[in-house]
Amino acid sequence: MHELSVEDLSSETRPTWCGGCGNYPILIAVKKAIAQLGLDPDKVVIVSGIGCGSSFPHWVRTYGFHTIHGRPIPLASALKMANRELTVLVTAGDGDTYGIGANHFLHAMRRNLDITVLVQNNNIYGLTEGQASPTSELGKVTKSTPYGVVEAPLNPLAVALSAGATFVARAFSGNLQHLTEMVKAAIQHRGVALVDVLQPCVTFNPAYSYEFWRNRTYLPGQHDAQDIHAALRLALEEDRRALGVLYQVQKPTLLDMMPLPKEPGNLSRLMESFV
Ligand code: SF4
Repeated sequence: MHELSVEDLSSETRPTWCGGCGNYPILIAVKKAIAQLGLDPDKVVIVSGIGCGSSFPHWVRTYGFHTIHGRPIPLASALKMANRELTVLVTAGDGDTYGIGANHFLHAMRRNLDITVLVQNNNIYGLTEGQASPTSELGKVTKSTPYGVVEAPLNPLAVALSAGATFVARAFSGNLQHLTEMVKAAIQHRGVALVDVLQPCVTFNPAYSYEFWRNRTYLPGQHDAQDIHAALRLALEEDRRALGVLYQVQKPTLLDMMPLPKEPGNLSRLMESFV
């Protein structure tokens, strides 16, 4: 198989996102990561939920599943458990992952199934035109919060770390090279990998622009990514956001722990053992 290019991995139709949407760099980063890692597109599945960014599987020439709101993680989990040869990516927004699918997110982080969860975090519900999401900041005026958000925002990285995630990273869609490296590292990690991507929604959350995030993100110089306390300290920073791999350790994956047959074809025997 010849080395794939980003164009090889592009579908015939083009995304319908607003001009300048932070989803475009994420799409390019995923295609670059697949190409640079030399993955066979026939063995890659991208699963999404509902949201602007969730049309993602339509724009990549791999297998894909555009499922229902908040449910891409369970579907991705089932795919990986049914066929461990697959590279399984979830691409879903902050509302989908941290709101409607929060329960699935939490349990995916503790289960350590070998899937990558890429969150298009634009701090707003974009598809439904601008309601507060679980990561919208206190006081933010949106269509659903005309007097300002009164709930403290969720800190997804801190939640993932405390739930037992083995790979937790943050990227910014205004830094394509770094974002691509984070996607590649997440895919290569053996276990569950979260990449929270700070992504501008230029139409319904213009305050969180590329410039806004450029001025509030940084790459930590010295950081021990195996130190969970150091990772939590970075995750809990409020005035600025550290980019990069905050935490990565190796632990047995869910499939390592499950008494499943190692060889394909033994499923019938396994089923029989339950009856
Ligand atoms: Fe992107 Fe926001 Fe437009 Fe949706 S509404 S496509 S998130 S810029």
